[in-house]
Amino acid sequence: ALVVRHRMRCSGRWARAMAILREFEENCGTPIGKLGQVADAMTVEMHAGLASEGGSKLKMLISYVDNLPSGEENGLFYALDLGGTNFRVIRVLLGGRDGGVVKQEFEEVSIPPHLMTGSSDALFDYIATALANFVATEGEGLHPSPGKQRELGFTFSFPVRQTSISSGNLIKWTKGFSIDDTVGEDVVGELTKAMERVGLDMRVSALVNDTIGTLAGGRYYNPDVIAAVILGTGTNAAYVERAQAIPKWHGLLPKSGEMVINMEWGNFRSSHLPLTEYDQDLDVESLNPGEQIFEKIISGMYLGEIVRRVLLKMAEEAAFFGDTVPPKLKIPFILRTPHMSAMHHDESSDLRVVGSKLKDILEISHTSLKMRKAIVELCDIVATRGARLSAAGIVGIIKKLGRDAVKDGEKQKSVIAMDGGLYEHYSKFSTCMESTLKELLGEEVSDNVVIKLSNDGSGIGAALLAASHSQYLEVEES
Ligand code: BGC
Ligand code: MG
Repeated sequence: ALVVRHRMRCSGRWARAMAILREFEENCGTPIGKLGQVADAMTVEMHAGLASEGGSKLKMLISYVDNLPSGEENGLFYALDLGGTNFRVIRVLLGGRDGGVVKQEFEEVSIPPHLMTGSSDALFDYIATALANFVATEGEGLHPSPGKQRELGFTFSFPVRQTSISSGNLIKWTKGFSIDDTVGEDVVGELTKAMERVGLDMRVSALVNDTIGTLAGGRYYNPDVIAAVILGTGTNAAYVERAQAIPKWHGLLPKSGEMVINMEWGNFRSSHLPLTEYDQDLDVESLNPGEQIFEKIISGMYLGEIVRRVLLKMAEEAAFFGDTVPPKLKIPFILRTPHMSAMHHDESSDLRVVGSKLKDILEISHTSLKMRKAIVELCDIVATRGARLSAAGIVGIIKKLGRDAVKDGEKQKSVIAMDGGLYEHYSKFSTCMESTLKELLGEEVSDNVVIKLSNDGSGIGAALLAASHSQYLEVEES
């Protein structure tokens, strides 16, 4: 009788746990009709954000990049790429027309977590020191010409209101950063002061978002690149807009007639987004409540955390892992998206990767195959929602540009430069994103929309933009 009772209790628990999972799945649903509404809402918000400052949750920031790399860029340039848990310092020798990128060297430095929420000076001093150390390793033929100052393209992957190509004020931090005294400041000023403090003589010639850098780097190699998307720790997109289509731009009309726009789509929000109680809780408890809602259901910083939250609920309300709730499961952000990806891609018949992740990260040692299967399913639900919504976002851009239909049989290629660890390393996510894009655009159009991985294009892109905005360029006669 005891055994029977025990089994009944277990099956009752199992049913409850599955009910939680099924309800979550239902609330995460992204049927094609809903994705179409999300894409349309994205297009609408793009128009609103371009119309007036503050006109939309989509900031549609003006980048001051009105010319993308031409291939003429020439000389030695540095780039600094700050945006996630690591930053990169890069040195590039550009060879001008036909020369291309002659030489490229880089170093990656991780940012100690306490600096992400400390003081502005401490963060920028740390970065400037690493940059100075890197400059000290300049080898044969990789020095600036005598009498010339070194120049830097600064990729800063947070929302910035630019005041010129080489200056701009931080609107807010995102991802894991939160440093109050930087908000509202000119981040180039902050970096320049820190460089002076460490005795490094270098000028910031271009300040760019990572999407802008990726777009510039992508265009350098492929003239059909019209937009860039980042799917990494955070998410965002940039694209080339007609200057005439930016009512809020009161500056001179650029010669090219174009302006690159940093959408800051991570902050997109719409009643069509499938949001669940877990998303709401995650948002409320985050460093930036109410902000970056699209980012919080799509990007790498959050996907693993959503999985953890659902598992915790299954543990607390349905004893999914037994009578006690595994203590580690209560720690926010302990389950990272790379762990989730490893579980999701487990091809072994006994799902032993899932088993080992549960053990290593959450200290859960005994699970049945049935439980591990449910966990893989949970990963699939979370990744699928993110992937399909990011595809809808891209369709929003394609529609805004009027590239969502084949006109008079004309085959106009639209290449989207893509970067970010989520896209690069989470293959079930990227595969789902791309198949959803096809589904949304239809065969004929999607044949002409190409996603191209532009691995770390943002660093090179920033160096290219530093080159085209160098203080040593001869001023063009107009
Ligand atoms: C930032 C964007 C950035 C994106 C990808 C977001 O959190 O707001 O500026 O482009 O992450 O790095
Ligand atoms: Mg990056």
